[in-house]
Amino acid sequence: MATNATDAGTASTANTPTAEIGVIGGSGFYSFLENVTEIQVDTPYGSPSDSLFLGEIAGRRVAFLPRHGRSHHLPPHRINYRANLWALRSVGVRQVLGPCAVGGLRPEYGPGTLLVPDQFVDRTQSRVQTFYDGLPLPDGTIPNVVHVSPADPYCHDGRKAALEAARGQDWEPVDGGTLVVIEGPRFSTRAESRWYAAMGWSVVGMTGHPEAVLARELALCYTSMALVTDLDAGAVSGEGVSHEEVMEVFAANVDRLRTVLFDAVAGLPADGERDCLCTRALGGLDPGIQLP
Ligand SMILES: [Zn+2]
Repeated sequence: MATNATDAGTASTANTPTAEIGVIGGSGFYSFLENVTEIQVDTPYGSPSDSLFLGEIAGRRVAFLPRHGRSHHLPPHRINYRANLWALRSVGVRQVLGPCAVGGLRPEYGPGTLLVPDQFVDRTQSRVQTFYDGLPLPDGTIPNVVHVSPADPYCHDGRKAALEAARGQDWEPVDGGTLVVIEGPRFSTRAESRWYAAMGWSVVGMTGHPEAVLARELALCYTSMALVTDLDAGAVSGEGVSHEEVMEVFAANVDRLRTVLFDAVAGLPADGERDCLCTRALGGLDPGIQLP
């Protein structure tokens, strides 16, 4: 039964630390927390980007996962997104926050803008975007073909928590907008960037897909928090985006982004009180495999 698979408890043993909330982002978010526990998790879909780092924020147990690995060695197209989401769910995580760096596609979305998107457009090319691909897992079980809906790809309650957290820090966020996810690792040409802007899309990044849809396939809540680190090539004249520029702006904003992130964690619904559509993503569907 789909319901049993979806609602099954965690695969963790009594000795394995657990978490209820996952944060997929860099080490800048957890490195100063006290009593952080590092655990390695393997998954039927391979290894996640790094260990999980478990700590506590406002009484909530949180698992941090450095999306690009702790030494930032994984480019966006080589991240094992399936393993990352599966690993988080296997330690008990049911709600995920995904902070990310993006380029602004409109002049008014300059560096330092925080945008909480409500839509994405997939412009990636090479990424596996489903757990349910009909191929056998190492334990011999075979996922059924399952079609979930990402019509509204981000969690309603998670977005609300993120927006309220930003406002609480006097950082007025952009409420909604479309994140274009490109394959990378290169940035956009000026023509591509102008095209995205002409379509009415808001910001451009490299990791938002398939992260959000894979979370949906596991009935996890997922919320993106996009920090604009630069104006994309089409929104500004000059030489275009540089990697250094992105890293500089991210570093300059990481403290307040961390504060907002932690406040958002505190504002997420308790595990037993989740009542969003994400929880019913697999309603009536049989994935054919046991979710962790
Ligand atoms: Zn949700």
